[in-house]
Amino acid sequence: MQVAATHEHKDLNGRAVADQILADIHDQMESLKSHGWKPKLISITVGDTSAVEVYVRNQKRTAERAGIAFEERNFSADVSDTELHAALAAMNADPSVTGIIIQRPVPSHLAIKKLQSAVHPLKDVEGMHPASIGNIVYNQLDLAPCTAAASVELLKRTGLRLQGLEVTVVGHSEIVGKPIAFLLMSEGCTVTVCHHMTRNLAVHSRQADAVFVAVGKPGLITGDMIKPGAAVIDIGINQIQTESGEARIVGDVDYHSCRPIAGWITPVPGGVGPVTVATLMRNTLVAARRQRQHYEAEFGKPMAV
Ligand code: NAP
Repeated sequence: MQVAATHEHKDLNGRAVADQILADIHDQMESLKSHGWKPKLISITVGDTSAVEVYVRNQKRTAERAGIAFEERNFSADVSDTELHAALAAMNADPSVTGIIIQRPVPSHLAIKKLQSAVHPLKDVEGMHPASIGNIVYNQLDLAPCTAAASVELLKRTGLRLQGLEVTVVGHSEIVGKPIAFLLMSEGCTVTVCHHMTRNLAVHSRQADAVFVAVGKPGLITGDMIKPGAAVIDIGINQIQTESGEARIVGDVDYHSCRPIAGWITPVPGGVGPVTVATLMRNTLVAARRQRQHYEAEFGKPMAV
């Protein structure tokens, strides 16, 4: 059993972790720019942007802090599949574009998985392309899906030794739960994955030194479902109404009952979210470097952009 030395809880402050990641990226970005490379992230939205406005604004602000150019392209709600694929092909071929993000949701006539697969893997800063997902299965972890990578980064910040750590992941979606499980396996953790057919969730969550929760159900994990001293990484983002009628954002974990039991816990908001956006910027840096290496290997000379 490998848990915190005392049961006194420690908040895992995502904003502080994000600040450290961004400061590091900013320095590396300056060095990349001094070699003539100017990473640029393109954010694609389709139709009404109200559901993603806050996220996009936050990404833009964070990109600016990291020294990355950020450009928004909005397509009309009735854009055809063919038109959008053509636009993606043009961005894939444009050397000034080093990363592409497709903001979700997109209108139902567009197949999001097909669009994600149409982003060139070298520009796939979200880590959503099947090739990017496949890479993490093969232990190539540096362009992993952002939320999954951010969640594992927060576990690392506890200082716990990951080799042999018993971890339970609740939720097994393609973009969050499954990649988290693969990243943890690469670190040497013993991983249990739970989903809606899991017979007794508490049996699995209670045995774990660390619990990751990515479901989208507020209050799913309560204090009696975790081992004293465990690390609790809450990925859920849910909007609820308080008794006074106010809208509030909460995670999947019942923070108040888990906090006194946990060794470490991520708050929502302010936990996984800011680290996810910082990870997007880190992926942009990694992608830009890879494109540069790829170009130089292909053409035998530095690329002018
Ligand atoms: P999703 O695609 O809806 O997947 C939810 C997962 O939860 C599914 O694997 C589902 O399993 C499982 N599940 C459903 N009911 C369950 C139960 N009672 N017990 C255990 N597992 C259950 O959602 P997602 O995209 O992974 O997102 C999950 C949450 O994370 C959402 O709240 C989302 O808003 C949030 N999120 C946060 C960030 C961030 O940056 N912090 C980023 C992305 C997503 P089945 O498939 O078997 O039904």
